[in-house]
Amino acid sequence: MSSSVDSRTFDTPTSGISTGGPHFIASESNSSAPRPASTIPLLAATDLKKGYRKGKLEIPVLRGVDFAIQPGKFTAIVGQSGSGKSTLLHLLGTLDAPDAGEITFEGNRIDNIPQISRDILRNRHFGMIFQFYHLLPELTALENVLIPPMIAEGVIRYWFNRARYRKRAESLLETVGLSHRLNHRPRELSGGEMQRTAIARALMSDPKILLADEPTGNLDRQTGQEVMSILRSLNQEQNLTIVMVTHDMTIAKQADSIVRLVEGRVEQQ
Ligand code: ADP
Ligand code: MG
Repeated sequence: MSSSVDSRTFDTPTSGISTGGPHFIASESNSSAPRPASTIPLLAATDLKKGYRKGKLEIPVLRGVDFAIQPGKFTAIVGQSGSGKSTLLHLLGTLDAPDAGEITFEGNRIDNIPQISRDILRNRHFGMIFQFYHLLPELTALENVLIPPMIAEGVIRYWFNRARYRKRAESLLETVGLSHRLNHRPRELSGGEMQRTAIARALMSDPKILLADEPTGNLDRQTGQEVMSILRSLNQEQNLTIVMVTHDMTIAKQADSIVRLVEGRVEQQ
């Protein structure tokens, strides 16, 4: 692995979401005596509930999910198809809001903050990868990896720092073994290469946590294993915290711990 994935490469704020200013609301559940930083989970869910409404029918999916992710850990979330794994990951990533319960990030409540604060939080601190990669088809691998700073910085700041961003994007693509594919478009890449591009894109903002929804779900076993090796290296060598949803126990067993969703609740393995 290259040592180029370095938290000091950019001046992104790393001191927690409170740097986001008054948008971020401290959790009431943390209003008691302050705990040492090391015992505060990076990400935690308490009594999380979420259902979907289909006409008059209310479909309960998460019925009270409790769990906590400690910094530096690699956690797999498993469960049958339809058990609510993606729903949970979307809630953790603030892509959707729960019906009830709380989500905290570094001890601060994030489930009820305004949309703009959620977007800032996600852009700065969360990296996400998905089963179907979600790359933009008209852009090259390198350009896809450059999207996060383009969005986060705006045109002028991006343009001013473009050489630095490009250097970082190239080094991240090197880290995932794609130096020879910088100018390929997604349709010119294999599934494994597309997922590796998506991983590089997720790392671009130097996230504190990587949320992965079935990252190997569309890949054959060997290619899936290659993607897993990259995720494991990022976790072990760079201490990146990872939460990965998978239905594949061979993949899940490679994580530090497994959380199983059963009937809308968590069963710790
Ligand atoms: P998993 O990722 O574990 O396969 P999901 O979280 O995608 O499960 O879905 C959980 C359940 O919620 C499923 O029964 C699914 O059909 C339902 N569901 C998911 N998204 C929606 C939605 N937007 N509207 C209605 N039902 C949904
Ligand atoms: Mg799913």
